[in-house]
Amino acid sequence: MPNRATQNATAAIDSMGQEEGNTATGGLRRRRVLVFPLPYQGHINPMFQLAGLLHARGFAITVFHAHFNAPDPSRHPAYDFVPLPDGMSAACTDDTAEPAVIATIKNIFAVNTSCEASFRERLAALLEAPGARDDVACLIADAHLLTLVDVARQQGVPTLALRTGSAACFRCFLANPMLCDKGYLPAQESQLDTPVRELPPYRVRDLMAISRNREEHDLTCKLLSRAVEAARTSTGFILNTFDALETDELATVRQDLGLPVFDVGPLHKISPAASSSILPQDRACLEWLDAQAPSVLYVSFGSLANMSGADLAEMAWGIANAGQPFLWVLRSDLVRGAARVTLPDGFDAVTRERGMVVEWAPQEEVLAHGAVGGFWTHGGWNSTLEGVCGGVPMLCRPYFGDQMGNARYVELVWRTGLALEGELERSKVEEAIRRLMRSEEGGRMRERAQELKRRAAEAITDDAAGSSLLSIDKLVNHILSLSLSK
Ligand code: UDP
Repeated sequence: MPNRATQNATAAIDSMGQEEGNTATGGLRRRRVLVFPLPYQGHINPMFQLAGLLHARGFAITVFHAHFNAPDPSRHPAYDFVPLPDGMSAACTDDTAEPAVIATIKNIFAVNTSCEASFRERLAALLEAPGARDDVACLIADAHLLTLVDVARQQGVPTLALRTGSAACFRCFLANPMLCDKGYLPAQESQLDTPVRELPPYRVRDLMAISRNREEHDLTCKLLSRAVEAARTSTGFILNTFDALETDELATVRQDLGLPVFDVGPLHKISPAASSSILPQDRACLEWLDAQAPSVLYVSFGSLANMSGADLAEMAWGIANAGQPFLWVLRSDLVRGAARVTLPDGFDAVTRERGMVVEWAPQEEVLAHGAVGGFWTHGGWNSTLEGVCGGVPMLCRPYFGDQMGNARYVELVWRTGLALEGELERSKVEEAIRRLMRSEEGGRMRERAQELKRRAAEAITDDAAGSSLLSIDKLVNHILSLSLSK
């Protein structure tokens, strides 16, 4: 990677605009990319990774952001930051009694609404600065920020949309009206196991818009159609995936959108290590891993999923009874309605010798660590990709959103893991861990996972004309071709 990054380091320097320099690159003017991440961990990380790679190609970066889950500018000294005045804290709910999916979708809409006026104002101010209309190339916004994409376009700023899920998932976004027309959605309880013929290998229960009630159905459909609109009204669409992982899915998205689609993943392997973690990462677990044999099960459910106290107890005893070394991330808000996580009495005594529990881990590094031999995940897309790049088999326990679909791909398309479905019972947990970590079947999953890891590395290798590197070149050229309308 460094080769290409260095070669292209000046790609974004507009040699026509030599009048005023404000960069460290010899007084030439840099083109500037504005980015606006959705303020959730699984969206912030890929946006900052993308910003990192564009910065390495010579672009200046300005980050617009909400106060909610705001980034720490001191960790990104090379970027400019524009915090948007409030409204956010009041608008965003942290209601742990509400299902995570409903709370999250409402918060996403709240981010759009409460940032609209201030974004309009601050963007206009930025564009009024001398030379700014020539410097600024575009806004890259999270695909869930349609309102802000519209604001930028109204001010003549070309946009690109970044969707932080898989291509397969976005194919479901595009297909959502069809799924409603054909009666798959809203889902009936009796139809949950019906295969969705148009979107194999999904069943109805794997669809993102699967909902427990009408409110959730309507909110989800609105969320998906707004993301599709953000993509369709932009000049290009960016996905954190790679061609060998999702060849057909990418082809379908390209054909349907009729826009340039840039598959630039796995971003975390291309861009410098993300320093965009909202929670402090407990790095002591890396030292602990250094002292382990290569058989540790890493357990983490991302930043949003939550579970009942009863499920946590079943999970804990399943992990304890499986006898496998483990590193377990227990976020303080993991248990619904509880202020903190309490493990069952006796768990610590049984597992102390072979387990470590942390509140938040440096996950990318953990999954790249040789001692990790398996990953129990909720199946968020970043975690899935990080697991793919780690070459480890995965045990998937999805909760909401795209997680069910990702689990389906792990189990049936890439065949690099298992899905753990139904009631969470300690005996099922124990059995699933044994299958993943110690069975012949698990060994075959590991071999396929290693092959996928190799394909991921190829996608970002210069010598192999990596597909994602080529896509990044196209993205850089695309951005350089953009200019503001007057
Ligand atoms: N993550 C982390 N430390 C942890 C758990 C997760 O840094 O202990 C990061 C992980 O590397 C990933 C992100 O948080 O990049 C979670 O994103 P994902 O899409 O997997 O799930 P979400 O949080 O959006 O449900």
